[in-house]
Order: sequence, then structure tokens, then C-alpha cells
Amino acid sequence: MKRNARIALLVLLAAGLWLALKPTLGNRRFTFLPFRWSEYFDLMDFWLNLGAFAMLGMTVWLAFGTLEKAFSRLWMMTGGITLLNILLELVQSSIPGRAMDMADVWAGLIGCVGGIGCGMVLQLFSIGKKSGGKEPQVLFLDQTGRLGGAELMLLDIAAARAADSEVILFHDGEFRTALENAGVKTTVQRLSEEASTVDKQAGLKSVLRSLPGILQLMLRIVQAARSFDVVYANTAKALIIGGPAARLAGRPLIFHLHDIIADGHFSLLNQQALVHCANFCAQSVIANSEATKDAFIACGGRAELCVVIPNGFRIPTERTAATQVSSLRASLGIPPQAWTVLMAGRLAHWKGQHVLLEALKAVPAAHAILLGDALFTDEDREYARGLHAQAEAPELAGRVHFAGFQKETMPYFDLADAVVHASVHPEPFGRVIVEGMLACKPVIAARAGGAAEIVQHEQTGLLVAPGSAGELAEALLRLKNEPSLACDIAQRAQQMAQDIYALNAVQEKIEAVIRQTASRELSQETETAANQPLQQVA
Ligand code: UDP
Repeated sequence: MKRNARIALLVLLAAGLWLALKPTLGNRRFTFLPFRWSEYFDLMDFWLNLGAFAMLGMTVWLAFGTLEKAFSRLWMMTGGITLLNILLELVQSSIPGRAMDMADVWAGLIGCVGGIGCGMVLQLFSIGKKSGGKEPQVLFLDQTGRLGGAELMLLDIAAARAADSEVILFHDGEFRTALENAGVKTTVQRLSEEASTVDKQAGLKSVLRSLPGILQLMLRIVQAARSFDVVYANTAKALIIGGPAARLAGRPLIFHLHDIIADGHFSLLNQQALVHCANFCAQSVIANSEATKDAFIACGGRAELCVVIPNGFRIPTERTAATQVSSLRASLGIPPQAWTVLMAGRLAHWKGQHVLLEALKAVPAAHAILLGDALFTDEDREYARGLHAQAEAPELAGRVHFAGFQKETMPYFDLADAVVHASVHPEPFGRVIVEGMLACKPVIAARAGGAAEIVQHEQTGLLVAPGSAGELAEALLRLKNEPSLACDIAQRAQQMAQDIYALNAVQEKIEAVIRQTASRELSQETETAANQPLQQVA
């Protein structure tokens, strides 16, 4: 802290203490003032106490408060100062003719909390400044340490601009390791236990319980955000916490929308919270498909914020060697010639692995690999246990292979004869569909959401009704029994995927949004500016 600031603090502290101690200086207020005046101030006792303790609270906060430990310090300081206040009142009550005044205690308490609040605000605005560098400095936020589809996309975006980016994760995990291996500076700012358990379906009670944890993390992000030009929220919780934080820090916000904001994915309360937060805090919303964009708008989201940019993928130049594929087959216990279908992605009810297992019963001798794990909730873990039980059915015995979560997925795609996507709710994008296409495998996908945008039925894949094991079984039998159809579809799809989903092109579009958003001065933002449509970059 600078010398002048320290002196100013000491002066404030002295003034605060003097005002707080005034009752002990005698039987009157402001003993150096004429008696008349003193009586007048006596009437204002409540307000004087409030002001005195506000000054004291603010001074103590500025001297010792840190935003990282905002809540614990707030309670500690308020408690300490209130004790001091009560002590002063007790001393005062021992002076003949004066009694303990509870109104003064309350005034002190209110003043102290208000003063600490002012101290926090002053601290927030005195830290960090914009980079002023050539490339916009971006602070990415993501709620999880696990590697889901949204995180894999962020990994590629952040790695491509590692020198000008930092990532804050709300949980530790393999995602942090992957980011650090890619040279991206990453820190973990933990979200409290209560706030972590709030999921997409959460109701009011659990949201309220999680508030202290959320506010604390928000303050830390405000502090961090002030050293960047743009804040980029990559997940729903990252938006809810990072959106207000970006606003408080005076930085523009990009929200990368990887979810369909609708029933089945989010509770009504969460839908409203997300959309209002995006409307109020974000300067740009990157939707990963028309389906996510449409759902956002249908829920009340501002259309002019949105731009649709699909996920991007590295186009592999080499595929897995045949020997490696054979040994993978053997290690999974799949016979050498068995027709095999791959379903990749986390194990969760809405992803529909159970639909594939049901369909597989009608496809004799076919094997299925389930690649992925239950990543996020207890419900998912329970579902995963159910899948293992389902695979024990006599009609499926030995034909379902659980491969767990694998960082290197390409060998599994190369092993498969077909790739299945079977989400029972509309898929926001469906990375595994494009990955199957790039591996030159015929893909069957559920006809809804982003999946239906990627796959052109009969041309670049087969579409089936979501949740229909019967239709899925039929499509599987077609691909199994008509190898030339399977081959044609796979080749057309591979060409299309290489043309549309190449990572470089997608990264350029995202960079354009970042530059465009960074160039908007938030301080000058008015309703009119915020309502200006985002220039199309897709
Ligand atoms: N994935 C992976 N390892 C696994 C299973 C899946 O890396 O064991 C990857 C998969 O290749 C895909 C992503 O996880 O890139 C899942 O993305 P998708 O859009 O299909 O689903 P999301 O997880 O985003 O709902």
C-alpha cells in the first residue's frame, strides 16, 4: 500500500475512533463546543454512532480485508467492532447520568457493515488494469475439472492463444492438467461444497443455500477479471458467477453456450437465471448450434447477442495402425471379426446408452463399446451402475464392453464399424458425431437438436427418433447388412466434416468474436449499444 494511502487510512481510523470514543470524554458530546451545540448533537446520537462505526469499519477493511477471504473477514471484523461498541456503551453507562443505549449498539453494527461494504467496493475498483497489449487478454471460466465436450472445445481455444489467456476452473481435475500441458496458465478457484451440488435441475432452496459460496467466488473473479480485457464464460455456472463479476469489474463478457436451455436439461428457475444473466451481463453469446441458439431465444434470450459457431476439430493426418486396433480389440475381449458399434460420451441417462443396449438385443452377434464414464452427478453414477446391470441380460452377455473414460479416443473410433449417438433429449451439438465422421465411420444419430443439423439423413448418416430402440436397431441392421451403403455414407460424411468443422476455421471465428467484444468499451455501454446486433462472423 502506498505511503499516502496509509496516512489517509490512519487519519480515517483516528477520526473513527475519536467519534466512537466520544461518549467517554465526558458527560457531553463535543466538549469543546458550546453546550447548546452539544445538546443538538446529542439528538443525532444514533447517526453519529452510525457514521463513526462506518468509518471504522471501512478503515479496518481497507487495512486488513482481502477479497479472497471476504466472508470470514467480514464476520470477524463486524464481530470485533461490535464487541468494541458494546464495551464503549458499557463504559459510558458507568458515567453517572448516562445509561446503556441499545440504539447506539445497533447504529454501530449497521454503520460497521456499511463501512466494510464501502471498503470492499473501493478495493474492487482500485485493483488491476486493462492490458493495453495487442491481442485481447482473455480470462476463461469453466466450472469443472472434468473433460466434457465443452471443456475439450475450450482446451483448443485457450491453447491457440495461450500467451494471452488464463483459465480459472471452479474444480480441479484432468482438465487443469490438459490445459497446463498445452501451456495455458490455469488456476483453480474452488466453489464451495453447497454451490457445487447445485445442478441444472436445482430449485430455489439449494440455490439459496449456495449463495455465500457463489458470492465469495464472484468477488475473487472480479479481482482477477480486472487484469483482462474480456471474460469468457464457458459453462452455465461460469456465466452465473462470472457474468455479474465481469460487470462489477467493468469488463465485457462472452458466454459460450454449449447447452440447450429448456426443460429436460434445466429447471425453470435455472433457465430464467441463465437467460437473464446472459441478457444483462454478456456482450456476445456464442451458440454451438442453431438448436442452442433457438432455445436461448425461445427462453427470452436476446437474439442480437447470438452468433452460431460450431465446435472445431483437428483433422487427423494419421489413423491408428491396424496392429494397435487388433490389440485393442483383444484387450476389450471383442472377437476379431465381430461387427462393433461405438458409443462415446459420458454415461448419463439423457445420453441414451440404455437405448443402444436395448437395440443391440435385436442385432445378433454385434458388439458395443461404451466409451466414457459418469462424469458429473450421483444420478449419472447410479445410471452407470444400471447400465452394467442391463448389460448382464442373457441376450447381451459378453457383447457390451465398458471402456471407461479415455483421453485418447481415436483408436476406439478406428476399431468401430459404426458410431452411435442416441441422446433422448435434444443434443446441443454432439462432438462424437463429427468425430465418427472424421474417422470415416457411418454414424447413426438421434433426430433432434444439434445432431440433426450435423447429419443429413441417408446422405451423411442415418437419423432415428430419439429414444426409439426399435428404429435404432433397424438402422444398425441396415449398416451391418449393407456394407456399401455404410461405406458411401461414411465417405460423404468425412468430406463434409473436414470442410465444415476444421479447427483453424472455427478458431478464427471465435477470435473475431473476442476481438469484436474486447473493442466494446463497457464503461460507455448504454442500452442502445448493448442492443446493437453482433456482427455475423460465422
Ligand atoms: N470423450 C473422451 N473420452 C471418453 C469419452 C468421450 O475424450 O472416454 C470425448 C468425446 O470424444 C467428445 C466429448 O468427450 O469429444 C463429448 O462431447 P459431446 O459433445 O459428444 O458430449 P458432451 O460431453 O459435450 O455432452
